[in-house]
Amino acid sequence: MTCRICLSSTHVLLDMGESPPANSLKEAANQPEDFYPLVLERCNTCANVQLRDCIAPEKLYSRYLYMTPDSPSLTQHYAFLAGELTDRAVLRSGSLVVEIGSNTGKFLRHLQPFVRKVVGIDPAANICEVANQSGIETICDFFNDTSAEVLKERFGRPALIVARHCFAHNPDPHEMLRGVTRLLDGDGYFVVENAYLLNTVENNEFDQIYHEHMFYYSIRSMQALLAQHGMHIVDVLMVPVHGGSIVFLIKKIAPGDQLGAAVEEGARREDHALTPETFNRFVANTLEIRRRLREKVSDLLGTRQRIYTYGATAKGNTLLNFVGISAAEIPFCVDSTPAKHGRYLPKSNIKVISEEEGLASPPDYFLLTAWNYRDEIIAKVRRRGNVRSKFIVPIPSVSVL
Ligand SMILES: [Zn+2]
Repeated sequence: MTCRICLSSTHVLLDMGESPPANSLKEAANQPEDFYPLVLERCNTCANVQLRDCIAPEKLYSRYLYMTPDSPSLTQHYAFLAGELTDRAVLRSGSLVVEIGSNTGKFLRHLQPFVRKVVGIDPAANICEVANQSGIETICDFFNDTSAEVLKERFGRPALIVARHCFAHNPDPHEMLRGVTRLLDGDGYFVVENAYLLNTVENNEFDQIYHEHMFYYSIRSMQALLAQHGMHIVDVLMVPVHGGSIVFLIKKIAPGDQLGAAVEEGARREDHALTPETFNRFVANTLEIRRRLREKVSDLLGTRQRIYTYGATAKGNTLLNFVGISAAEIPFCVDSTPAKHGRYLPKSNIKVISEEEGLASPPDYFLLTAWNYRDEIIAKVRRRGNVRSKFIVPIPSVSVL
């Protein structure tokens, strides 16, 4: 098909079949679902890795159940980022900060003490309501050229625009960047945090591949995209959230811009590491995890062991549906988000229950679908007096703890 960054031709890396959107939890197990192809492909010219087929954002995000969880590791990460941005003088006492896809405003709350004003923009009405009620002013809209103009009229030009784990959630990054260049102050920063392709591939994180993730960014592909909009990466940070993410610090190209050494070093590392052999190995490892997890679940059920999954996450649903695990084998999924309780996971039909319910009569094994919170979840289960249940960790390879 066609690369949505540079319009060259692409080739398929991995075809994961058809599945429903990974965040679309159901009210009832028999509720009808729409299935869409999930095909990962790579550009033959510009290093872009993308989904071949995109679902319209209106369909994915207008009513969204994902609310940023309260997690010690995320809180730590927010404080780290706020510190980095303050040290680099990106955050200043007189400035305005706009966050795209700000969800319930948890990150903006961390920036609030350092700046004049923070504003969020998010397309999910139910989530904007929560944010506004908690005192983080949030506009309910998609971010694009039009809404950027509205924000500029109403609040002025921000010195910082943030897009954490949402920049790849849109089929047309050019439209978002037109909005960013229109809104951002001349020497302002655009900070994008995203899952990092190199981590995804090297850690076999095929569960990152779902319909919301329409792009899998690297330094090289981000450079190819930004160059078309008169912007460039001035620095990058590698951070541990969501299984290994990258933070791009981006500015409009101006004479005298200093580029951090990490940008060129990282890009050169990608040139060596992201070869066709690497992608072939990623695909082979993905298929091996599917085979071993299938085998593990069948073996345990064969000896009458009970298994629940832990984490009603998008990545968890990708994993379950790709491996082919359903409610007939694993009846319950434990999750800490009240809005998800009593609902059913897409395709697999596994029922979501609360942690209290899940731990009241715990299973022999938890399949850690939210493996990126592994240590936090295991500590939480043990703290509640459960020392018996074991944990199946699927990624980077199937293991039991
Ligand atoms: Zn391309």
